Amino acid sequence: MALIVQKYGGTSVGSAERIQAVADRIIRWKEKGNDVVVVVSAMSGETNRLIDLIKAVNPRGSAREQDVILSTGEQVTIGLLAMALESKNCPAKSYTGSQVKVLTDNSFSKARIMDIEDSAMRQDLDDGKVIIVAGFQGADENGNITTLGRGGSDTTAVALAVALKADECQIYTDVDGVYTTDPRVVPNARHIPKLSLEEMLEMASQGSKVLQIRAVEFAHKYNMPIRVLSSFDEDEQCKSTLVTREEDIMEKVLVRGVAFNRDEAQLTVTGVPDEPGIAFKILGPISDANIEVDMIVQNMGSDNTTDFTFTVHRNEYEKAKEILCVFADEMGARTCGGDNKIAKVSIVGVGMRSHAGVARDMFEILANEGINIRMISTSEIKVSVVVDEKYLELAVRSLHEGFGLENEAKSVA
Ligand code: ASP
Ligand code: MG
Repeated sequence: MALIVQKYGGTSVGSAERIQAVADRIIRWKEKGNDVVVVVSAMSGETNRLIDLIKAVNPRGSAREQDVILSTGEQVTIGLLAMALESKNCPAKSYTGSQVKVLTDNSFSKARIMDIEDSAMRQDLDDGKVIIVAGFQGADENGNITTLGRGGSDTTAVALAVALKADECQIYTDVDGVYTTDPRVVPNARHIPKLSLEEMLEMASQGSKVLQIRAVEFAHKYNMPIRVLSSFDEDEQCKSTLVTREEDIMEKVLVRGVAFNRDEAQLTVTGVPDEPGIAFKILGPISDANIEVDMIVQNMGSDNTTDFTFTVHRNEYEKAKEILCVFADEMGARTCGGDNKIAKVSIVGVGMRSHAGVARDMFEILANEGINIRMISTSEIKVSVVVDEKYLELAVRSLHEGFGLENEAKSVA
C-alpha cells in the first residue's frame, strides 16, 4: 500500500463538474489500495477575483488582512471536494492550513513553511479517510493566517509529501507533463517522460511555468519525486512526467529542454571607477530596495574604469533604473541606462556536466540565425543568453531544432 499526495490546481477544480470528476479520480486511487492526501487550489480565477476586491477596497491594506482574504478561495474547494466525496460514500475530511497545522514564518503573502503537524492526519488516514488540505496557506506561531505566494499549492503538496514520507507527490494540472519547450512556441515540442529534480529546478527558474519554483526547490532539497499529470486525461494509462532523483534517470541527455523568460530587463552603467567595492556600491542600493537581481556581468577594467550590467524583473525596471542612475551620477559614471525589451533563453541538461562544447553549439545556432547575444551566463547544467525580445521565438525554435529536441532523447555516456 502506498501513500500518495495529490495536488489539483485551479482549472482541475474550476467547476462543480470538475470537482465531481476529481472526486471520482481520488476514489479510483483509493480503491487500488492507496492512502490518499489531497491538496487543492482555489477554483480557477478565484484568487485573482479576491486580489481585485482587495485593490478595490484598500490596495494598501495590511499584509495580514490580505492573507485573511486570499486564503478563503482554497477553503471553499476543500469543503466542496470533501462533500463530493461524502456523496459518493467515500469518507473524507477537510483541513485548512491552520487546522493541520502548516506552521510558517510570518512573512505574509510569501510565507515559508517551517513545520507540518502530521499526527491528526495520520489518525484520519488510519481510519480510512481521504484527507483534503487547503493549499497555499498556513499559520504563523501566533495563529495568523499566512499565504505562500502565487502558485503556492504546489509547495503545500510537496511539503506534505515530505512530512508524511509519501511514496509520490502527484501534481494534477491542465497539461500532461513537462515538455522540451513551451508547445505554444514550438508545436512539435516533445513530452518528457522523466527528468531529474535538478533539471526541473533549472527549467523552473529559467522560466518554465509548469511547477512553482519553490515547490521544486523543496522537492530537490528533500529528494521527493514529483509526477505531473493532467486531470483532464481520462485514460488510466495517461502520459505523465516523473521528476525524480538523478540516480534514477537512465538517459543523461545533453540538452533536456529550452526554457525562456520574457520578464526580464537589463540595466547598464559604464565608465565607473574600477576599484574595490564598486559592485557593492552599485548593487547594494538595488538590493536594499528589495529588488532581486538575476544575471550580473562586470567587464575587465581598462583606463581605471569598468562597465557593469545586470538584469532584474521587468516590473522593477523603472524603480531599479532610477536608483541606479542616482548612484551612477554620484560615482561619475559615463552612462547609465537600460532596456526592458529583452528576453532570456536557456538550455538545460545534466549531460552538460561531463560534456564540453554545448555552449559553443548554442552560440553557433544563434549566430546562424543572425541573433545577437547580449549577455551569457552558465551553470553546471545550464547555459543562458539574453537576446532582444523580438528574437525570442526564433531563438527558442532554432535551439529546439538545432539540438534535435523534437526527436527521442538520446543519452550521452
Ligand atoms: N490559489 C493560489 C493562486 O492562484 C494558489 C495556487 O493556485 O496554487 O496563486
Ligand atoms: Mg494555481
